[in-house]
Amino acid sequence: MSQHAVVIGGGIIGLATCFEFQEAGFEVTLIDPDPISGATHHAGGMLAPTAEVQYQQHELVPLMRESAQLYPDLIRRVGQHTDLPTGYRTEGTLLIGADRADGQHLTELIDYVKAADLDIEPLTTRHARQLEPGLSPRIVKVAAIDGDHQLDPRLFARALYDAVLSRGAQHIREAVETITPQAVGLTSGKRVAVESTGVVVLAAGLGAAKITGWFDGEHPLQLRPVYGDIVRVRVPEALQPLTNRVIRGFVEDRPIYVIPRDDGTVTIGATSREDSPHPRTSAIHDLLRDAIRVVPGIEETEFLEATCGARPGTPDDLPYLGVVREGLIISTGYFRHGILLAALGAKSAVELATGQEASTSVAACNPFRHAASTINV
Ligand SMILES: Cc1cc2nc3c(=O)[nH]c(=O)nc-3n(C[C@H](O)[C@H](O)[C@H](O)COP(=O)(O)OP(=O)(O)OC[C@H]3O[C@@H](n4cnc5c(N)ncnc54)[C@H](O)[C@@H]3O)c2cc1C
Repeated sequence: MSQHAVVIGGGIIGLATCFEFQEAGFEVTLIDPDPISGATHHAGGMLAPTAEVQYQQHELVPLMRESAQLYPDLIRRVGQHTDLPTGYRTEGTLLIGADRADGQHLTELIDYVKAADLDIEPLTTRHARQLEPGLSPRIVKVAAIDGDHQLDPRLFARALYDAVLSRGAQHIREAVETITPQAVGLTSGKRVAVESTGVVVLAAGLGAAKITGWFDGEHPLQLRPVYGDIVRVRVPEALQPLTNRVIRGFVEDRPIYVIPRDDGTVTIGATSREDSPHPRTSAIHDLLRDAIRVVPGIEETEFLEATCGARPGTPDDLPYLGVVREGLIISTGYFRHGILLAALGAKSAVELATGQEASTSVAACNPFRHAASTINV
């Protein structure tokens, strides 16, 4: 008889986790009242271990690198169980500095990236414009990162959802309130029994901080929403493609990215703020102005939407990923890298559940590292 995994949360982390448990031979139950409605719905989808390298984030770098390496195989395997597109593209990324100060910022980043032993190649702006004629001639500095790829998070999450359902996963459209060793308690009062040999994975993004019953004392997960405004536009057919690579960098010190999609749309993002969950007019204005400064053709596009998503942030920007008691795994807090880290997070959850040795250690992601009390039931 196959083992059973109950996965709470149907964002990219939960869905990829469902998929990998099925790959490992588990029967899967997904619990989520509204899958793909959280951060995953809003995300840019850059798989960018190099451009996203953060100062003083040494423990994050190996996780991002391994997850990026896992992606081609994950995409291939998901494609064996669904015909839905993923928007996965491997043309790479150009990192740009818009003015002289941004150029200096980029020079420092290039040095830091090289010191971290990651691949980045400075280009002349002339060469960059030969590669991407849609780039503005006013840009002062460019570097190519061929290994930073992208996918469309909404498409990929739908593909994962289709794949896991087509392989027999059960989906319970309800919210979880409690987790005890015997059962997962739903807000309706119903309970989903957990077999003694089964595993529960709490992958509910920010929602994980409201689910109780599995610890004593204060909630051990210190999750906070870090909001990001993001814009989508459609490129008129005559101008397609505006670019083939992801274009990202700095305009007057503000970060900006422009992600071309297969369907002729472009995603422009993203802000990072902790005040209000609603799209902010000034932020949308800045994003559009900066994107036009970098890729002027964006001025000719059709506006589709501006949304604001909440990244599940942790105090040290590392996820919470680990076993908290036998049969219960926490997998949340992926902050600004959850699309990239989904491949590793899902694989690690299966390794943790089955006692396999992980190729990349996730010890730094211990879910109790910020807890006042470490006593769990
Ligand atoms: C604007 C923006 C841009 C981003 N760009 C990138 C990027 O380019 N690259 C990258 O790697 N990352 C990016 N991210 C980060 C990434 O989106 C997140 O880290 C990732 O989506 C987190 O996935 P998740 O599955 O943990 O959470 P979510 O996607 O938030 O999903 C959580 C799920 O849990 C469900 N849930 C909540 N509570 C309960 C409950 N009680 N019971 C059952 N289910 C529940 C919700 O319905 C939801 O479906 C971006 C984020 C934002 C906001």
